[in-house]
Amino acid sequence: MMPKHHPDDATLMSYSAGSLPLGAHLLVECHLACCEHCRQRVTEGDALGGALLERLPGAGMSMDKQAILTLLDQIESDQAQAGLVRSEKQGALDSRWSAKNPLPFDLPDWAEPIKQWFHDNQIDADSVQWQKVAPGISQIKLESASFHREKAVRLLKIAPGTCMPTHGHTGGELTLILQGSYSDEAGRFCIGDVADLDPSIKHQPIADRDQDCICFIVTDAPLRFEGWIPKLMQPFFGL
Ligand SMILES: [Zn+2]
Repeated sequence: MMPKHHPDDATLMSYSAGSLPLGAHLLVECHLACCEHCRQRVTEGDALGGALLERLPGAGMSMDKQAILTLLDQIESDQAQAGLVRSEKQGALDSRWSAKNPLPFDLPDWAEPIKQWFHDNQIDADSVQWQKVAPGISQIKLESASFHREKAVRLLKIAPGTCMPTHGHTGGELTLILQGSYSDEAGRFCIGDVADLDPSIKHQPIADRDQDCICFIVTDAPLRFEGWIPKLMQPFFGL
């Protein structure tokens, strides 16, 4: 399986820095388990973050965001020239979970972190049911105090051929396809694909006609670059 749509680099870097909220973290973790391309990006991002720390001025010096971005560019091109391609640290993503599937549909193997969330929150299969929200559309909301930084974390099931209303977003939206497929202005999204939408994007997904399309959706989640830079900068700015 080779996903064609991926989280953007800012989301992957935030994941790598540990600064994504939990729902988005779960979503990215599932995607990484099925996407070699993004595992590679995360490894490169880690190398970049380490190199950045080495080259920053000492405590007490300040740098603005532009200077940091310029430095990142420099490091990236230096690394490219040196042919530095780190080997994967895939071992970390080996299956750590073996919880039973609590959901009323088959989860792909790589979606273990979602199963684990239900397991950790002691939510069992009997209490998990689809709730209708509109004709052809139902959801299962994942509710937990640990999702307080996110507006909503949910599973959405779209019946074959159903056309979602056109919508924009007040915040970011991350969607991971767990089953089936849909198409919108950005293309066709199939199992394993991630749609990483910023607030400026409006779209109208239409589920393909062969089966239900089931997605894991996190809204208002990614802190993106703004979240990653401050985290790296913390020791230097004394934030
Ligand atoms: Zn990917």
